[in-house]
Amino acid sequence: MKTVVIASSNSHKVEELMQLFSEQGLDFDCIAMTDVVGPIVIEETGVTFEENAYIKALAVHQLTGHPVVADDSGLEVDVLNGEPGVLSARYSGLGATDTTNRAALANALDAQGVTDSPARFRCVLCYMDEFRTVFGVGTSEGIVYRDGRGSSGFGYDSLFVPHGESRTYAELRQSEKMAISHRGAAVADLSAHLSAFKSEAHHFTTSDPLPTTDALIMASVCAAIGNDAQLRSTIQHFVRDIDDAVLLHEVILQTYLFAGFPVAIEALTIADEECRSILGDLQWSNAESYDVKDYTARGEALCKRVYGSVYDRMMTRLQSITPELRSWMIIEGYGKTLSRPVLDIVTRELCIVGVLAALEHHNQLRSHVRGALLVGATANQLRSCADVVFELCGKRQGNEILRLVLQQETSVLGH
Ligand code: IMP
Repeated sequence: MKTVVIASSNSHKVEELMQLFSEQGLDFDCIAMTDVVGPIVIEETGVTFEENAYIKALAVHQLTGHPVVADDSGLEVDVLNGEPGVLSARYSGLGATDTTNRAALANALDAQGVTDSPARFRCVLCYMDEFRTVFGVGTSEGIVYRDGRGSSGFGYDSLFVPHGESRTYAELRQSEKMAISHRGAAVADLSAHLSAFKSEAHHFTTSDPLPTTDALIMASVCAAIGNDAQLRSTIQHFVRDIDDAVLLHEVILQTYLFAGFPVAIEALTIADEECRSILGDLQWSNAESYDVKDYTARGEALCKRVYGSVYDRMMTRLQSITPELRSWMIIEGYGKTLSRPVLDIVTRELCIVGVLAALEHHNQLRSHVRGALLVGATANQLRSCADVVFELCGKRQGNEILRLVLQQETSVLGH
């Protein structure tokens, strides 16, 4: 059984998580963070639940060296435009307690002239060990009331009635809350992603993860910047030593989404020539039949994993600026291309980060560095991606990846 530190000093959360892990069959031998490192304060400087969960997981993983699960959660109230959100634990300011936070929420509802509002609890879990970072996300929809009922639980439990219930969370038995709560859903999601990792592992045994991935990043970046000579030698090395031309084809193919069709077709022509010269006659994988419904479902699911809690906001913004690009991004980008089963999403994201850094598309790069971490890339894998970009493009481009990765770490260390 794996020893896992729970990165939270909230004893209610620790208790709920321990119960949920054992109920959902996660093979974790849990220790509370305070039992390992004592009471510590980790500054939660992120603006999303994912960022804060990541910051907490990284801090405790660095301190203890153990696998860690961190929880960041909170209440989003519709009439308050999603507040208190990431500020749920500190809603009433310095020295906040559950009681003062509930009073602050009652005041905020009063100021809107309402006594209740649609709301949801959201929970993001971040699992981190030396090889991977994996997130689990869960929500629980319901109504928040100004006046509370019930005495069990913690935080805003007494103010929240989940959909399908007439009782508040604080009136439910612990086991009833666990069965429908945001934390229960997040544990189920985390568990599914951890098992997906096990099944995706066939391409990446522990003996060769970085050389394979680095060579794929290198091929992607060479394709994007038109470095044909280096592309040819990378392909030769890859096909001779790693022997999986299909992976190579796949990462070059996906560059059309980030660097354009002309770039992809030129590079695929080179890949085809080089692979044939080594392997002889070749049969590249056939295109899947075009099924918009299937691509839309696959695309939405994958895009949600990559964008996490900013997905809804981003989709609304894209819909208002360019509905065409929105549906193209989901169907063509995430559904048809990036969901192709041949390659796992972590490697895909690392290659995308390499291409975007090389081409200096800063906003897209920021989203995909975050996306890479959200789907399970480690900071070390991103550093090694930066090394490839350094080598091929220069310091400025490589540094941008490091800066974005370090942003998370420096905020943890309080620099
Ligand atoms: P943080 O994740 O430590 O930043 O704080 C989360 C805050 O959100 C808690 O202090 C609670 O106020 C609130 N919260 C999160 N989950 C729950 C829950 O299950 N019940 C009630 N309040 C919660």
